[in-house]
Amino acid sequence: MKELVLLGDEAVALGALHAGVTGCFGYPGTPSTEILEYIINSSDRSETTVAQWCTNEKTAYETALGFSFSGKRALVTMKHVGLNVAADPFMNSSLCQIKGGLVCIVADDPSMHSSQGEQDSRFYADFAMVPLFEPVTQQEAYEMIGEAFDLSEKWHVPVMMRLVTRLSHSRAQIRTADSPRAQNALEKGLPADWMLLPALARKNYAKMIDKQDDLLSWSNKWDRNTLEINPSRTDLAIITSSLGRNYFEENLADYAASCGKAGLPSLLHIAGMPLPLEKIRALADSAQTILVIEEGMPFIEKQLRGLVPGKNRIIGKFTGELPRAGELNPDLVRAALGLSAKKTILDTVTPPVLPARPPQLCKGCPHHDSYSSLNTAVEILNEREGAVSTVVAADIGCYALGAVAPLKAVETIVCMGASIGMARGASEAGYKYTFGVIGDSTFLHSGLTGLVDAVSTNTPLTVIILDNSIVAMTGCQTTMLPSAQLEKIVLGIGVEPEHCRVIDTKPNLVEENTKIILEEAEYRGVSVIIMVRECLEAVRLRKKKEAITRA
Ligand code: SF4
Repeated sequence: MKELVLLGDEAVALGALHAGVTGCFGYPGTPSTEILEYIINSSDRSETTVAQWCTNEKTAYETALGFSFSGKRALVTMKHVGLNVAADPFMNSSLCQIKGGLVCIVADDPSMHSSQGEQDSRFYADFAMVPLFEPVTQQEAYEMIGEAFDLSEKWHVPVMMRLVTRLSHSRAQIRTADSPRAQNALEKGLPADWMLLPALARKNYAKMIDKQDDLLSWSNKWDRNTLEINPSRTDLAIITSSLGRNYFEENLADYAASCGKAGLPSLLHIAGMPLPLEKIRALADSAQTILVIEEGMPFIEKQLRGLVPGKNRIIGKFTGELPRAGELNPDLVRAALGLSAKKTILDTVTPPVLPARPPQLCKGCPHHDSYSSLNTAVEILNEREGAVSTVVAADIGCYALGAVAPLKAVETIVCMGASIGMARGASEAGYKYTFGVIGDSTFLHSGLTGLVDAVSTNTPLTVIILDNSIVAMTGCQTTMLPSAQLEKIVLGIGVEPEHCRVIDTKPNLVEENTKIILEEAEYRGVSVIIMVRECLEAVRLRKKKEAITRA
């Protein structure tokens, strides 16, 4: 047995390798990126293990499905909003009779540290009727992933594992197995199990419904869903899940002391789904009020209102004991338990007020020059035509920082790939000059289809692809296709060659590039400007590689 200090993401990655996974796919996104990064760089990875970044979460999920069809264990990783992109294969895969274990790890980001939303992936697992695992510690993350693969193969269902930022990105010591488990052999899935033609899909849907009782029975017996009943406490019972348990335990000594002789309330920890109904009902029978401490949206709290209707008072995020938005923390849970705030050093010392440090583009970032050209072009157009003549829609990536001072260059940032569709929509709505600003990787991820739409309707708009030759924001993964391919793709979609401009972006070219943007803005069709310059990190990595090759 080895002892290692790992991030939650790394623990689950190593656990997957030790559980015999041989196909690992994903799209980078905070806080999930380190899972696949770890596997790609791991010496625990066998020679036959495939670990690859994919163009987007949907293609990653589909590749993992193909692995599972072949009888081998497959892992797919993404952040919570990435699951929206993979929702189609994810939902439909629940009707396939999964062969090699298939586990989808989704890392949620409560408090939106690096995301555009707080959505809670448990709703997706419930929607698809697939089991869900929620580790609370790095050790559990390491161990549970093997259990998730076993369950997937036993019941032929995909399994979701939900992580949250604080677990993904915090380190702890874990104990690992001595040797990895054997890998599955290559086999073939039965076509009837994998073809969702209506006649077959109906049968498979019925099978999925039939499996629910077995999965529920597993969940009721699963020893990670722990129930402790205290018959002396009929006033209150507590349910914890995800990191809610850690924050509860941090307050345990003070809370136990405050409970006196009657002792702690009955406690149910829910480590996964389907929700363990028998244990929930036993808990509900033991007390009048149930406090739910869960990380994320009030998912369990909402379900409880249907599971124990009218019988108990359910309190938590809906009733204000805990906040609806943002991450939990020990202090919030402390207050929900009725404990007074802990004295801290801040009660006696007033910390100095530090200047705000909003996130910014790196000094010398190519996006700065590209936005400078665009800003001047937009200013000129607005002065000439009035402010309701231009719209700049942007996308997700480093270049989203163009939204903040000093650039303040963009007006919308919604989701991966939305910039082109939104620029098109604004153009169709009546704006004369609309711009969709998108990175090279985001363009491949989900901008292509928006461009196809725009070309099909010949909607006047200008797409600006900021080609920095790397997936910078998530840790400098390689872009799926080299820069040289972008122009060919744009032309292949049908953009007129004279309106597909590939230009360098540099401080001394800002003025010249403004003119090019103005020219293309006047074109009453689809124009694409690919502004090229490597990200500073890409330059650093390239030079490092070149030095290694020379040595
Ligand atoms: S990492 Fe690269 S793309 Fe991102 S802000 Fe810095 S230089 Fe620009």
